[in-house]
Formats: sequence, structure tokens, C-alpha cells
Amino acid sequence: MENEELESYERAFSISNEVIEFARECAKENAHALELAETIENKIRELGGKPAWPVNISINEIAAHYTPSRNDSLILKEGDMAKVDIGVQVDGYPCDRAFTICIGKKSHPLIEASEKALEETLKLFKPGTKVWEISDVCEETVNGLGFNVIRNLAGHRVDRYSQHADPSIPNGKNKIQDEIEAGKVYAMEVFVTDGSGFVVESSPTGIFQFLRDAPVRMWEARKILEMAQGKFEKLPFTQRWITDISPLKIDMALKQLTDAGALMEYPPLKEESNGMVAVTEKSVIVK
Ligand code: MN
Repeated sequence: MENEELESYERAFSISNEVIEFARECAKENAHALELAETIENKIRELGGKPAWPVNISINEIAAHYTPSRNDSLILKEGDMAKVDIGVQVDGYPCDRAFTICIGKKSHPLIEASEKALEETLKLFKPGTKVWEISDVCEETVNGLGFNVIRNLAGHRVDRYSQHADPSIPNGKNKIQDEIEAGKVYAMEVFVTDGSGFVVESSPTGIFQFLRDAPVRMWEARKILEMAQGKFEKLPFTQRWITDISPLKIDMALKQLTDAGALMEYPPLKEESNGMVAVTEKSVIVK
């Protein structure tokens, strides 16, 4: 890994540490999800980083990919299992982190299981470890604590301007032979549930990402496509980051862009049996 690359990663990692601490203090009972997401995103900017994607605040059976909308009314209530996923990038190099808190409670067995399994898997991030070995430890640790992993969610490698690079490191057992490599950066995330352990797509979609250029009719759609490649740097973005377009036109323009294959959508992922979900995620630079 080049020096400059390492410096950017290390900067993103240290900003993430501060932001996570800050976010833990802000995520409490009666907090507005929208305000919380924007406060965290602003904190990232204040510290000299950029959000690598919109802050995700996913509650209870929603495992991931929920970001508050411009006029979101969601408020964190006692007993809510709130998952906060934060991406920080410096010069395109991302650090991917997530934590869960049970609002109004000190902790929760699901959160403890997720933290424990993450800790165990992180010990294996050394050159030569095979993906299946990490997944084995992940699922066995979680099952040993009486819960299920979410089998169709995974840790992954990250790269410059790529928040989800190959290989994926599934939470559930598999036979994947890919090896952890030196000089690479990985984000390991462990999703734990008291449900069946499978997520399905839900709605409404609040996260989009540039895929390819495509001809679209609406002026507003062309403008959003420009932003997706320009100020959003081809990384995931959300409706509330779109400026200078009437909110009434944004959804229509986004629909045109996804229909044309210009943007990819990340709908919220819901646990299929409506089980509660906790996640813990850290990124590591393998040296
Ligand atoms: Mn991740």
C-alpha cells in the first residue's frame, strides 16, 4: 500500500473513532432520526472527512440501509434496537463502522452477541486466512450465544471509492476459499437476530448510487445524474443531499434514473420473520 493511501485510510479511521463516540452519545431516547443522521454527517465534515454514504439508522427488524428522508418523523423510543452505520471517506478511502444500541437500556443480549462475534472474527484478519474460516467462527459464536446470523449479509473488502469490494465475507458458513491479503482493507460486520436469519428488500428507498450514464428526459434527472458523478463522487447518496431541485420533482427524477439503469437503489433490508437485529462493524487494515 502506498504511503498516501495508508495516510488517507488512517485519517478516515481516526475520524471514524471520534464520530462513533459522538454518535453513541447522540443516539438516545426521543432523538429524531433525521436530526441524528444530519448531526453525524456534519460531524464527519467538521473533522475533515466526508460521509462515504448517508448515515444509516435502521430500527428493530430493519437490518440496514434505512436513512431518514427530508421530512422523516421517526423518533427513537425506549426499547428500539437502533443500528447506526457510518461511512467516512478521505480522498475516496473509506472506513466502514456500525454499532447498535437498545434505546434506554445499558445493553442487550443481541448486541453483546454481535460484539463478541465481531471480536472473534477480527482475530482472523491475517494474510492467508480463508473467508470460510472467518464465517465459521462468526456463525458458531453467534449460535453458541443462542441467536442466528443473517445468512445473506456479509462483511467485505473496501477500496478507493468502493464501499463494497470483493470478496464478501458472509455471516453464515460457506466454502469460499478466497484469502485475506496483506495491504488490503476489510470491513467486518456481524448481523445477529432472534429471527430466522434472512433479510428481504423493503421500502421506501432512501439510498442511491451512480451506475452509468444514460439519456433521460427530465432536466431534474440530468441534474441529479450530474451530482451523482460530481459532488457525490459516484458514492451512495440520498434525496436529502440533493439541492436546487424541488422536492416534488426529486422522486420522479430518481424513478426515471433507476428505470434507465443510471442509478442503483439500496432499499432498506428487513429481517424476513420480523426478528430484532443487531449489528457491529469495524474496518481493519491488514498489514
Ligand atoms: Mn459494511
